[in-house]
Amino acid sequence: MAAVRPPARTPSAVPAPVGRRRLPLLAFAPCALATLSVISALVGADSLANWPIAIDSTGYGRAALAGSALTSVLLVILCLAQRASRSTAEAALRGTLALQSDRLEEILAMSKLMGLLQVCHSLTEANHVIRGVLPRLLRGAAGAFYVSRGTEGPLDLQVSWGCVSPAQSFAQEDCWALRRGRPHTFEPGRSSVPCQHLGDVERPCLCAPLVADGHTVALLHIQSTVGETLSADAQRIAAILAEQLSLVVGNLRLQETLRSGSERDPLTDLYNRRHLEISLQRELARAQRHGHAVSLVMLDVDHFKDFNDTHGHDAGDAVLREVAQVLKRHTRAEDIACRYGGEEFLLVLPSCTPDDAYAKAEAIREAIAQRRVFMHGSALPRITASLGIASCPLDGERMEDLISCADAALYQAKASGRNRIIANSPPGDIVLFEQKGRVVG
Ligand code: GH3
Ligand code: MG
Ligand code: MG
Repeated sequence: MAAVRPPARTPSAVPAPVGRRRLPLLAFAPCALATLSVISALVGADSLANWPIAIDSTGYGRAALAGSALTSVLLVILCLAQRASRSTAEAALRGTLALQSDRLEEILAMSKLMGLLQVCHSLTEANHVIRGVLPRLLRGAAGAFYVSRGTEGPLDLQVSWGCVSPAQSFAQEDCWALRRGRPHTFEPGRSSVPCQHLGDVERPCLCAPLVADGHTVALLHIQSTVGETLSADAQRIAAILAEQLSLVVGNLRLQETLRSGSERDPLTDLYNRRHLEISLQRELARAQRHGHAVSLVMLDVDHFKDFNDTHGHDAGDAVLREVAQVLKRHTRAEDIACRYGGEEFLLVLPSCTPDDAYAKAEAIREAIAQRRVFMHGSALPRITASLGIASCPLDGERMEDLISCADAALYQAKASGRNRIIANSPPGDIVLFEQKGRVVG
């Protein structure tokens, strides 16, 4: 019988793939078959001592048959063992591939999220992005994203998905995570406590605070929608998101502060003159394109120097803030109310005819005259204001012309006795306000 050489082994530390590992076994099978046949023949002989003289053809045949049967059984066992080990290895491989593909998808979604958030100009834009990406990143979990109003202020709901009636707003004290400054998990049935803002929550959940510059700026809340615990994956992703989103919210806050600082007046929080000039140019261009009117109302507090001298600068400041409140209350979202300088204010009213502007100016004049401002518990004397109106295209189309027309009308209102409105119109057509009606003079 020809000797069967065992297959040469390559000196490699890397385990051979499943298909290649089958080769040595297949080569070994015939060898084992032959060897076992011989052994069976020997065992099947009546006596080893008489071999080979005592062996007859019937005994030899029986022995060979038994040997073959034994060999077959062994081969079957061998094949089954091999198949079992192969399917275990394949299942493990499939599991690893699935995990890797999940991780790859997660990394891609995370980098897409961060890429988009980095170019967001406002929290509204960021919320839009978060609403699109977070539910896909945190599969099997519902969630909500809250942002705080100021450093110590309450948190307002920005985005939620899959949560059952999430709180629209809650105080920082109502969240254990915010109180302790670190993530807080709640698992029903275990010795953990849910946050107050969650109400009667029955799902396992996690609150992760978002901290920027040492201050809590937001909160990421997630709830498991499957199972009795939050998956380790969901917790891991939530931790990464909390860290990344805190940078984004911190940056957006900073941007908003810088932007509002460069366009708003700190005393009244109205737009400043610089912002007004930029937006007025834009409004005039738009009005010319669409054939709309744009009206300007210039307002100046009457005898304000005397008021300051008598009641002090702080009282004067309080009055200016009050006037600003009146202006905010009487303007629409598309109007621009600005502190033009000192105790002078300018309103830009897009798509507003001179008549409509007059009605609005009258409402403002009356509201200011009615207003009472209190300082240290006592009421200050009432103040009044004079107003001048100019309109595009009636009084001009250039910003400078319109502002100087409104200013000229205001000057006339002062000259005519104050606490009144004058609209500047084409030459000679000046409208004066009197207590209950309009007078053309
Ligand atoms: P008129 O009725 O003609 O407008 O008289 P007026 O006294 O209001 O006008 P005038 O221009 O003589 O005085 C404006 C005053 O407004 C002087 C200034 O001290 C005061 N003022 C300007 N800005 C501020 C401010 O931010 N706070 C306070 N408290 N006063 C201010
Ligand atoms: Mg004044
Ligand atoms: Mg003035």
